[in-house]
Amino acid sequence: MKRFKVRYIRFLILLLFVFLLSGCASSAGNNTMSVSNDKLQISTNKQQGIKSDENGNLIVHFINVGQADSILIQQGSKYMLIDAGNNGDGKLVKNYLLKQGVKSLDYVIGTHPHEDHIGGLDYIINDFKIGKIYLPKVTSTTKAFGDVIVAIKNKGMKVAEPKPGETFNLGTAKCTILAPNNSKYKDLNNYSVVVKLEFGSNSFLLTGDAEDISEGEILAKGFNIKADLLKVGHHGSRSSTTDKFLTKVNPKYAVISSETGNDYGHPHRETMDKLKNKNISVYRTDELGTIIATSNGKTISFNTKPGSYKAGQR
Ligand SMILES: [Zn+2]
Repeated sequence: MKRFKVRYIRFLILLLFVFLLSGCASSAGNNTMSVSNDKLQISTNKQQGIKSDENGNLIVHFINVGQADSILIQQGSKYMLIDAGNNGDGKLVKNYLLKQGVKSLDYVIGTHPHEDHIGGLDYIINDFKIGKIYLPKVTSTTKAFGDVIVAIKNKGMKVAEPKPGETFNLGTAKCTILAPNNSKYKDLNNYSVVVKLEFGSNSFLLTGDAEDISEGEILAKGFNIKADLLKVGHHGSRSSTTDKFLTKVNPKYAVISSETGNDYGHPHRETMDKLKNKNISVYRTDELGTIIATSNGKTISFNTKPGSYKAGQR
């Protein structure tokens, strides 16, 4: 009997032990589950973090190159450069790009062969890896233009002709070419490559030096040119930004690239009055330096407050 009791008690202790062990194991299991759930949560957050970094914002830099144009557009790890200022601005633009961490440019657009747009472009073409180069189908006898063509040839690249209606992606941003719509213009300005940039519900219209003739053709083609931000054509000259065009674009923001005391009196009084009458916020490099517009796909923010509606003084 005694032996039986001892065995019975041992059996009970064993049962208790097994019970406790299984209880611990199951609670440990729960812990593991919750830990792994936490891990799952963390890894999901991380993935989301990476995803949002990859998608990022759309950043449009209107680089201050004085009486000239140069626009760097960044989306995620993709970059596009539209124009590179005057001949003497090549180094300034290059340093700006390097500061932004640009190692290669997926797209380069030389809007038209005037020196204040393509002057510094040969310098950039020589120094950066480039995916595709767009130039309008027109030549010029200037050294600035010749230098760009030589730089492209030396790189073993070919010029791509911009065709209105053509679209391509810059990361998750969409670019549509809207001009030039003709192959014979008196003024080189009208050959300007015009690009509409769309990111989420935000849009930007970048017009180079396109004047009234090109604006009229863009309107006639029926392109959707509504945009939140308009890079005002031809440094705010009265030869661009017709009433019809501005009404159709209906921007909230306008950017003007010009230099204080420039020879042309840009931006002209007529243009500034049109912008003022429509309550469009004006960001101008002559007053504010480099202007950076950042879009999160819903809203656009700036690195500076808007400037004035003052006309340029000669
Ligand atoms: Zn110009």
